[in-house]
Amino acid sequence: MEDGGNRRKPSWLRVSRAACGKSADVRRTLAGLGLATVCSEAACPNIGRCFSCGTAAFLILGGICTRACGYCAIEKAAGRRLPPPDEDEPERVAMAVAAMGLRFAVVTSVTRDDLPDGGASAFAATIRAIRTTTPGTGVEVLTPDFQGDFRSLETVAGAIPDVFNHNIETVERLFPRVRPGASFRRSLDLLSEYSRMRPGMPLKSGLMLGLGEEESEIAESLEALRRAGVRMLTLGQYLQPVKGCVPVERFIPPDEFDSWRERALAMGFGSVASGPLVRSSFGAGDSFEELSGHDG
Ligand code: SF4
Repeated sequence: MEDGGNRRKPSWLRVSRAACGKSADVRRTLAGLGLATVCSEAACPNIGRCFSCGTAAFLILGGICTRACGYCAIEKAAGRRLPPPDEDEPERVAMAVAAMGLRFAVVTSVTRDDLPDGGASAFAATIRAIRTTTPGTGVEVLTPDFQGDFRSLETVAGAIPDVFNHNIETVERLFPRVRPGASFRRSLDLLSEYSRMRPGMPLKSGLMLGLGEEESEIAESLEALRRAGVRMLTLGQYLQPVKGCVPVERFIPPDEFDSWRERALAMGFGSVASGPLVRSSFGAGDSFEELSGHDG
């Protein structure tokens, strides 16, 4: 089995079709509500497991992004004018959460630098809609960097998600190639500011490994995240989604992910999901419970 760059995937990255069991009916529910999940858009290998654990990640604010990250296959605006946010989308997401009986919902989006608040009010409205429709469902938001605008951040923080997630994705040296248009410092500042706005509230971030980063750079990035107040972490293998995206430099073996988990826990992270198939929203509900258990 190969990745989008035709590199042969090692055995530990091969997932059986059966693992995608429950996703068919979920796709129908979502299609009926005109919604998209990152899970299906990114052909996530964990779709079966997450859906069967009552977790799903919803993509709001459309499927066209104003950025052009080197690792991402999502459609790019490339200067085109994008439609305004869909006013009914928050309610439709809440209806899907109820229809799927989710115990934990992740809300994420493309980056909408074309919107005055970067889409922050759509995130806040979606959190509130889910809270109203299914008060028992946990909500994590995985947001863009809002171009470092703390007023947009306050808009999201004001809706009090259970988990605030913003991925740094890679180490600082690789940003120009992997995340042009973004900044390592800006992402750290956003996380620090959220931690200042909502002390003690679960703060999460994540990195993809296998893009050419050095071990010391990963360790420095994790320490920087801890200093920013991040307590939940995801580490997963980067896979080239399509030709034209940055190539995989290395397939990281599972035992290396295990040792990163141990190192991250020793640095004080309260919840660490680290493994070849781990993605930002992977087992998001379990990670939240792991942190709650850790905090006692
Ligand atoms: S900002 Fe997000 S959706 Fe946009 S190109 Fe980058 S990774 Fe893809």
